[in-house]
Amino acid sequence: MARPTHVVIIGGGFSGALTAIHLARSCTPNRLRITLVNPTPDIGRGLAYRFDDDNLLLNVPAGNMSALADEPGHFVAYCQRIDPSLSPGSFVSRRLYGQYLQSLWSQTQVAHPGLIELRVDEAVALNRAIGESGESTWQVALASGEQLIASQVVLALGHQRPRFPISLDLEVGARVIDPWNFDDMHRLPNDQPVLIVGTGHTAVDALFCLAQSPRRGPIYLLSRHGLLPHRHRLSTTAPKPQSFPEYLRDVPPTVRAYTRALRQQLKALAQQGGDWRDALNELRPHTPQLWQSLPANEQRRFLRHLQAHWDVHRHRLAPMAAQRLDQLLAERRAQVIAGRITTLRQLSDGVPQCQHSCRILLKAIFIDESLQPCRKTRSRAQDIAP
Ligand SMILES: Cc1cc2nc3c(=O)[nH]c(=O)nc-3n(C[C@H](O)[C@H](O)[C@H](O)COP(=O)(O)OP(=O)(O)OC[C@H]3O[C@@H](n4cnc5c(N)ncnc54)[C@H](O)[C@@H]3O)c2cc1C
Repeated sequence: MARPTHVVIIGGGFSGALTAIHLARSCTPNRLRITLVNPTPDIGRGLAYRFDDDNLLLNVPAGNMSALADEPGHFVAYCQRIDPSLSPGSFVSRRLYGQYLQSLWSQTQVAHPGLIELRVDEAVALNRAIGESGESTWQVALASGEQLIASQVVLALGHQRPRFPISLDLEVGARVIDPWNFDDMHRLPNDQPVLIVGTGHTAVDALFCLAQSPRRGPIYLLSRHGLLPHRHRLSTTAPKPQSFPEYLRDVPPTVRAYTRALRQQLKALAQQGGDWRDALNELRPHTPQLWQSLPANEQRRFLRHLQAHWDVHRHRLAPMAAQRLDQLLAERRAQVIAGRITTLRQLSDGVPQCQHSCRILLKAIFIDESLQPCRKTRSRAQDIAP
């Protein structure tokens, strides 16, 4: 009998776990062997779903978060076993979602004993190799010194740590906190201003983390456009499957043409009393196709000019999270700034704590001339739809 295909999945977060689960569910017995490599045994939780804080909510309603495409109600059913009042429109915690992925992972292991091997390790190198029968294989080197030989390799490494937008000298660099390191954030002295660089979902997470303890120093959030994510509407209905939108069918594949068509659609929708979110939701399953239809220069154009605007409309905040954010802004405990950091240096006077703590202080930051409080924070309030 032919040897089973050996698939090595590097990374056991959301994508790696689901790849393993789906391979296991669809494979013919004895034809496949799967090895999942992850630095910890917490499979499925990755960066997004590892926090135990129930204040951190999914930014997608439960009805859209099933891990099994052929069972769209799978996650909602899991939630309802815990709390029957939850519905497809509920925004539940990311902790609960991590727990759901872990339970799916455990069930898969029980249903397919011996099929998936978990290596608690880190992949450090990947090389092409030739197998015993002359076939092309992959060699995966692990930090422990072991080597895995694979027929196929899946890279599910997740998000990389964000880079700071300008180069930092060692002294200043040592004061920058990783936005996902909540422990360090909790340790910040509460009387110093803090600057969060970015105004997206990770920045909002960091803000919520900092705002958990009473602070006397303000918290600033800064990004080039100063745009914050819009909010979802609360809805109790399940999302409907969407076919490819007619209004985009014959549109030439350019950013300008797509944007114009979408704008016209939004205008027409508004005239009928509809909501722009519905048009964006309708696009959700088709964005990979639209993206791939764009030539490389158009993709670059999108990233340069439109991505920030697209992101705040497409990746929205759960209503509860948006309300919390609005409150922090209204109370001036947080302020949004539109601007670009041009230089960053440590002031020696007045901020002696800088010497031994790990943070960025606004006092130590010089931002270009266009620095001004962002008006977008005020317009957010008008955007709140029931
Ligand atoms: C804070 C945050 C909140 C989010 N909220 C949502 C949400 O509400 N809804 C939603 O749909 N999406 C959300 N996302 C997007 C989310 O990141 C993706 O949906 C998904 O979780 C990404 O999965 P991933 O497998 O690519 O990465 P991860 O789940 O982060 O997994 C990557 C894994 O690879 C491991 N790894 C990395 N390098 C190696 C190596 N060399 N060897 C072995 N293992 C390695 C890591 O340790 C990690 O376990 C959020 C993202 C973030 C950052």
